[in-house]
Amino acid sequence: MSTQLSPDDLSLLQSNLLIDDPETIPGLVQGLPDASQAVGIEAKYDITGSGKPKVRCAWCGRAVHWKGFVVDLGGSAYALVGRTCGRAAFGIDWNSYERQFDAKRRRQADLQRLLSVQAALPAALEELRSSELAQAADQYHAFLDGLRRVHGRFGQALAKSARAGGDLLVTEEERDPQAEERNIERQRPDLVKAVENALTDEGRVRASRRLKSWIDKEGRVYKSVVKRIGRCDGYAVLGGRDPKTELRTGSDRVGAQARKLLDPAEPWAEAEALSAAFKAMREALSEIEGAASLLGELERFLAPSNWNVIAGWAARFDASLDEDDDSNFVDDFRQISPPRDYATPSLIAVSELREAVGRG
Ligand SMILES: [Zn+2]
Repeated sequence: MSTQLSPDDLSLLQSNLLIDDPETIPGLVQGLPDASQAVGIEAKYDITGSGKPKVRCAWCGRAVHWKGFVVDLGGSAYALVGRTCGRAAFGIDWNSYERQFDAKRRRQADLQRLLSVQAALPAALEELRSSELAQAADQYHAFLDGLRRVHGRFGQALAKSARAGGDLLVTEEERDPQAEERNIERQRPDLVKAVENALTDEGRVRASRRLKSWIDKEGRVYKSVVKRIGRCDGYAVLGGRDPKTELRTGSDRVGAQARKLLDPAEPWAEAEALSAAFKAMREALSEIEGAASLLGELERFLAPSNWNVIAGWAARFDASLDEDDDSNFVDDFRQISPPRDYATPSLIAVSELREAVGRG
């Protein structure tokens, strides 16, 4: 243990504050005199669902409680009582017994957490300094640079898909049959009439052909339709965040808190100081986790199947462009060079540290 804990804290760490075998405690008294006095609450018990019979209460004398308290009566004598009976037996003092006991439990939990955090720190710090992590962050950074260099309009369109939750969209012109119908009624009512007034089937077929031929030659009406071509996995990488920077600042913050939490001179006498240190560590680790999840997103983005979806979208995009538009998304896309052998680093020790620090 690297921290100088007080003798009280050390003995608190050893004590069992939550027990499930209250009736095996030596020195149990079977009854309580009126106006009893106690040193305080020694432990809590809870045998709910254990299959054991209910515990006999020293105050009411009945076996009615699954949960209750081990009260230290002083002189190695102890009593088992339920909460309501405890209040009845000890009167106004009972509240302060409970408060002191709860404070002990919180302190014990803090100390246990401190020890697990201290135990988890060395491996986590080593993982944050690992070459695998640095390499992945560098590859990600270089990939982002490459993306930015690629033709503006393609990059913008791709980034737009990031804002659309990963949907790869393309706007295509499509014929609008309803508008065409309205159009021909306005411009060539004679053709419409000819179909309606045809006396024979052959006449109606001929008139319909003339009408259709006019629409195809002169009466076409188009509308713009936004289509979803596919879904881009790992689209978070298009959001512009750089995990390399986030990992650096996050690691610095973790390092600073680690030095504090591992400092042998730090007695951690104050509960507030300890919980502030845990909180700062939690926040630093959140930053690391955010950056690490981006590293994972890049692997999804680079997956061959995803790459094919993007290539298909680029081709559809090119096909949708006007003839005088010289954008070429397929060429733009080919300019993106994906990193070779990219692998998401696993941060097992860091998540163990996160578990030890707790979720707050
Ligand atoms: Zn009772």
